Amino acid sequence: MTRYVYDFIEGDRSRADLLGGKGANLAEMTRLGLPVPPGFTIGTDACRAYLATGSPPDGLFAEVDTHLRRVEQQVGRRLGDPHDPLLLAVRSGGRYSMPGMMETILDIGLTDATVAGLAARTGDARFAWDSYRRLIQMFGRTVHGVPAEEFDHELAALRATAGPDGPDAGQLRDLVSTYQKIFLRVVGHEFPQSPQEQLRQAVQSVFASWNSARARIYRRQEHIPDDLGTAVNVMAMVFGNLGPDSGTGVAFTRDPATGLPGVYGDYLPDAQGEDVVAGIRNTVALPELARLDPASFQQLTGVLATLERHYRDLCDVEFTIERGTLWMLQTRVGKRTAAAAFVIAAQLVDEGLITLDEALCRVSGAQLGQLMFPAFDLAGAPPPLTVGVGASPGAAVGRVVFDSAAATAADGPVILVRRETNPDDLPGMIAAAGVLTARGGKTSHAAVVARGMGRTCVCGADALVVDPDRGEFTVGDRVVRAGEVISIDGTTGRVYPGAVPVQPSPVARYLAGELDPQADPLVAAVHRLLGHADAVRRLGVRANADTAADARRARALGAAGIGLCRTEHMFLGGRRELVERLILAEGPDAVAGALAALLPLQRADFTELLAAMDGLPVTIRLIDPPLHEFLPPLAELTARVARAEASGRDPGRDGQLLTAVRRMHEANPMLGLRGVRLGLVVPGLFAMQVRAVAEAAAQRVRDGGDPRPEIMVPLVGDVRELAVVRAEAERVLAEVPDAPAVPIGTMIEVPRAALTAGQIATQAHFFSFGTNDLTQLTWAFSRDDVEGSFFGAYLERGIFEVSPFESLDTAGVGQLVRLAVAQGRATRPELTVGVCGEHGGDPDSVAFFADAGLDYVSCSPYRVPVARLAAGRAAVAAGTGTSDSR
Ligand code: ADP
Ligand code: MG
Ligand code: MG
Repeated sequence: MTRYVYDFIEGDRSRADLLGGKGANLAEMTRLGLPVPPGFTIGTDACRAYLATGSPPDGLFAEVDTHLRRVEQQVGRRLGDPHDPLLLAVRSGGRYSMPGMMETILDIGLTDATVAGLAARTGDARFAWDSYRRLIQMFGRTVHGVPAEEFDHELAALRATAGPDGPDAGQLRDLVSTYQKIFLRVVGHEFPQSPQEQLRQAVQSVFASWNSARARIYRRQEHIPDDLGTAVNVMAMVFGNLGPDSGTGVAFTRDPATGLPGVYGDYLPDAQGEDVVAGIRNTVALPELARLDPASFQQLTGVLATLERHYRDLCDVEFTIERGTLWMLQTRVGKRTAAAAFVIAAQLVDEGLITLDEALCRVSGAQLGQLMFPAFDLAGAPPPLTVGVGASPGAAVGRVVFDSAAATAADGPVILVRRETNPDDLPGMIAAAGVLTARGGKTSHAAVVARGMGRTCVCGADALVVDPDRGEFTVGDRVVRAGEVISIDGTTGRVYPGAVPVQPSPVARYLAGELDPQADPLVAAVHRLLGHADAVRRLGVRANADTAADARRARALGAAGIGLCRTEHMFLGGRRELVERLILAEGPDAVAGALAALLPLQRADFTELLAAMDGLPVTIRLIDPPLHEFLPPLAELTARVARAEASGRDPGRDGQLLTAVRRMHEANPMLGLRGVRLGLVVPGLFAMQVRAVAEAAAQRVRDGGDPRPEIMVPLVGDVRELAVVRAEAERVLAEVPDAPAVPIGTMIEVPRAALTAGQIATQAHFFSFGTNDLTQLTWAFSRDDVEGSFFGAYLERGIFEVSPFESLDTAGVGQLVRLAVAQGRATRPELTVGVCGEHGGDPDSVAFFADAGLDYVSCSPYRVPVARLAAGRAAVAAGTGTSDSR
């Protein structure tokens, strides 16, 4: 026969699938000999059976009765005994914590017959009747859906008429009979007077609460599967509401905000746990318990220490003190802030509880990323105006503007405040320091676009009434006008009036070399765990950097070279004119002249860059975007030419440019003349760039440096494209005296390149996945167009869990990556393979790239530490970390 029920002493924490998190941990505490009221757990499989058939599985309640007998023996009381009744708590608890989403019913076992017994045993009739009315209310609401207001209304009326000490026993007895009448009226039958019947119904209603609307919504948000079911914990009641020497509270084994050791928690004297949640009375800080009940306090701190040593992690607990006796009602490994995660992990290593490998797995790249953002100095912050959804982290301060035009026109930082954003708001979002919206959650347009461009964003602040026509928004009766300064926190979602002082992140300052590693416990913890990540990781981390300044910053942040230098940035600004000359050049001499003018400028750029990254690889990508991106926009040129012609002037150069722009116009520039295609049709362009690289490297060699340039060809789809470019590049390299050997490789960013990687590897020393283009071309959508239009809908409808531009689509694009790595290495075993899309700085994607066997990732300089940490974690997870990791 299937078994469904387990005494607490039979289970342990490894069985959370069956016993639920709460049940498994109650069992673990029981095994540890901690003071847990006796009880048992009905496994999740019974719930699944109930949900499938609508009734409890055969034999379940016979089994429950057997286990109940044991509880009765241990406690020395019987359920339903009119003289000294056992009371029970019936508590939900699934595999994953879903706080407050499912049901718990306390005080099961009270009836008209047993209430007097409880009063006699405790000597407190008022308590007994109060417990009875709590049961009718909780049972009525949970099992039969009696609206809470029905009862609350009567309770409030009684409280209003009762004396300063609250209602007395007689008044509460009358309240119970009122509650019973309400129960009868709403439910249609009497409140059950059989404790066994109460228990059976309570268990079934806990099963059913798995499928309550709020539990379903919560699971969808948290990605918890719908088919797990909940366990049910049945245990003896203990009473925190038996007078001043009783009480209830919650505690953490150390501070979950900072991670620092100490006793943290809240305590509520003379109360039951549900009173804490209801917030009727104010709790006191836990250290106060040391004064109120020193013995229990000392015992509690002992329990906390035992739990932390045993779980080897921060734990939180719920406890109750009944007349000076401590009882533990719940524990679990506790949630914590990013800062606390690092500090606690490092401390636990110091205390010898965990290894450095384990410590590394307890922090994430995303948490490190969070710690690098500047934060508000909350000591100087006023109370927030309101709180929305923290959608894109950062701390932004600026004057309020209500539209895109005002944002782009303003000088000085602004916060763009909208009801919700749409694609027309894009220029404003780019110009603003932060974005605040009243509508929409983490997948709204504002949230998706802001995260995409790293802009601070708080969305869904629904207390906000935005009125752009009047140039103001209101929160309650508070009015904020355009031009007033506000501060928004993209991590916590808080919105403050005025300018809250911003503190640079100590972690960012440490990473930039401005703070000593031992500056504070957090910095010390980051230093230690990042150092360990570096020691164990196999994946290299390079940076995407186009200038010497970026290269130096990247190097300080731990980059082992440049994985992507975009040369097109070197054709902007004052050099645009030279590019225009190149485009307008007619005949080989004119082209050669234009290129000759660009050569020394490029050479100087590369010399500087190679010096900044001396001794480390610098991957230089030949020019990638379509040339017309360097020309004035069509509309602007047309207008200029029209004006000149209207006033009878010769439009001159503008006229030539307009002809060129018209000639080069493309319906789909992204799919047009760009990348290697450009190099193949504009003679001499790539050769000029290769010569500039070679001459810069030769100069560095003569100056005693160690330049390691690599040349990367963009947008290759066929091996013959690469072969032609490579032959020309090698001819140029051979012409430059003193130039070092320069590897020549290609981006893999066109699906065809991934599919033919075996052939392409015959011509390439290295591959670098351009995962932005590879994502766009695999999905057939352009990032610029889609992020602001339908991505929100896709995220909301669950088609995407996360944007494929934020985190690599491993099921699709990832397969192309794996295929290309395998084929490329089959052709050329020593092939170096990296990735240079923004995914290189995304922790989940980094884990994938490590698994796919890449040699390095390259990301923007400020993501380098995040990638280092993620790569270390990936190595530990794959079991390839060092064995001696203490
Ligand atoms: P949740 O999962 O929502 O926290 P719990 O099952 O932990 O629900 O129960 C809610 C409250 O009921 C707890 O905070 C605790 O104070 C109280 N409670 C649970 N079990 C008992 C018990 N055996 N005796 C007294 N109070 C209990
Ligand atoms: Mg709880
Ligand atoms: Mg590209």
